Formats: sequence, structure tokens, C-alpha cells
Amino acid sequence: QHADGGTPTLFDKIINKQIPANIIYEDDTALAFRDINPQAPVHFLVIPKVRDGLTQLSKATEQQEQLLGHLLIVASKVAKQEGLDQGFRVVINDGRHGSQSVYHLHLHILGGRQLGWPPG
Ligand code: 5GP
Repeated sequence: QHADGGTPTLFDKIINKQIPANIIYEDDTALAFRDINPQAPVHFLVIPKVRDGLTQLSKATEQQEQLLGHLLIVASKVAKQEGLDQGFRVVINDGRHGSQSVYHLHLHILGGRQLGWPPG
């Protein structure tokens, strides 16, 4: 059981280094690593290291405002580090209609090619 009362996800194992991941950024509260099934030349995820109920964006509380802002700053910083100077996309899938598959909040950062809009 997870500290927040919910079911652990494989991201806990990535955070705890129990399963390997291609980690490209880490600080006290956030972790960025390459998506195992990239949908663009650059595709990485940014996650909070402590889930604390943030299984998905729709569970966010006012208390998590600073953390949520930090995840966006990390996304931008790592995008720069990855050379995405022509732009990129940030996506958060929420719930069933959002096609969320891992219930530990994560930002997708995609770039390195022209991305279509609107998404399917
Ligand atoms: P979601 O559909 O929940 O928004 O996205 C979950 C993402 O996690 C997917 O893009 C998927 O490819 C990625 N993912 C799933 N399992 C692993 C894994 O073991 N390692 C890494 N690096 N990414 C994973």
C-alpha cells in the first residue's frame, strides 16, 4: 500500500531505483525520465517524487500549488536541456477519457518534430 493510501505504481519503483529508467533530471521533489514508448524524437515524463494523493491532476489540492508549478518549471528547464528550442508540447492525461494509464501524476513533454493539432 502507498503512503497516500492508494495502490503503488511502477513509477514508485523508478523513483526508488528498483527498476531502471533513463533519468535525465532529478531534484528534491521532481524526477524526469525518458518515456519507454516515445511518441516523438524527444518524449520524457516529469513526476513528483512523492505522490501524496496526486494520482491524477483532478485530485490536486491548493496545498500542491507550489509542487505543480515546480513540475512545469522542471518541464521547461529539461526541454531546454534536451535542445527543444523550436518548441514542444506538455500533456497531462487525466482519467479514462484522458487515456491515463499510470495513476501517479506525470507531465508528458514531447518535441523534436512538428506535432499535429488537435490530438486524436
Ligand atoms: P499515461 O497514459 O498514463 O499518460 O502515460 C504513461 C506513460 O508511461 C506512457 O507513455 C508509457 O509509455 C510510460 N511508461 C509505462 N511504463 C513505463 C516504464 O516502465 N518506464 C518508462 N520509462 N515509461 C513507462
